[in-house]
Amino acid sequence: MLVLSSPSGAGKSTIARNLLEKDHELSLSVSVTTRARRGSEIDGVHYRFVSQREFERLRDSDALLEWAEVHGNSYGTPREPVETAMAEGRDMLFDIDWQGALQLKEKMRADIVSIFILPPSMSELKNRLKRRAEDSDETIERRLENARLEIEHWRDYDYVVVNRDLQPAFAEVKAIVTAERLRRDRNSGLFDFVAGLLDEKTT
Ligand code: 5GP
Repeated sequence: MLVLSSPSGAGKSTIARNLLEKDHELSLSVSVTTRARRGSEIDGVHYRFVSQREFERLRDSDALLEWAEVHGNSYGTPREPVETAMAEGRDMLFDIDWQGALQLKEKMRADIVSIFILPPSMSELKNRLKRRAEDSDETIERRLENARLEIEHWRDYDYVVVNRDLQPAFAEVKAIVTAERLRRDRNSGLFDFVAGLLDEKTT
């Protein structure tokens, strides 16, 4: 389970999208949210957009693996797709905030690797939020305030990547994924491979 977190606008969604395009072993956990859909977003692809009532129904029926309030809206991770992916041994990507990352760590015994993406500066973060131009000035100010609170949790993560430029930041995230997949304790196929090596006759 690969968790990516960052304040809004730090480039996490772009990095996640690139990763999903290039790495077909990875699938995205599509969250449910009560937030209004942005113009560029597709229901069921970026999020499942639900009413507050539907969100509460899912939460109360234990259909969410974790959930949190972020920027005044509710977000949650549907349980079923994650459990299916885990049972099939597929890797999953989570674009969730620090509250969700902590809950996943506490609840799931599965392997979790977490990466926190930082912006190069707060002024660059503000510029990126403005350039996105999908949120009102008031929303942007609230997101900047929340960014400071989010950044305070950087120590909860296994890795930290500063997104000065997208390509090097993306390369760093890919390097983390590659290294983590090569970990001996995660690679159960190695037993048979090494046994085969040792059995192999060379004469
Ligand atoms: P946005 O509204 O900009 O898409 O997302 C706002 C924040 O909510 C981001 O930090 C994003 O990672 C987080 N978020 C999205 N989905 C979930 C979720 O299912 N659970 C939690 N805890 N956070 C989420």
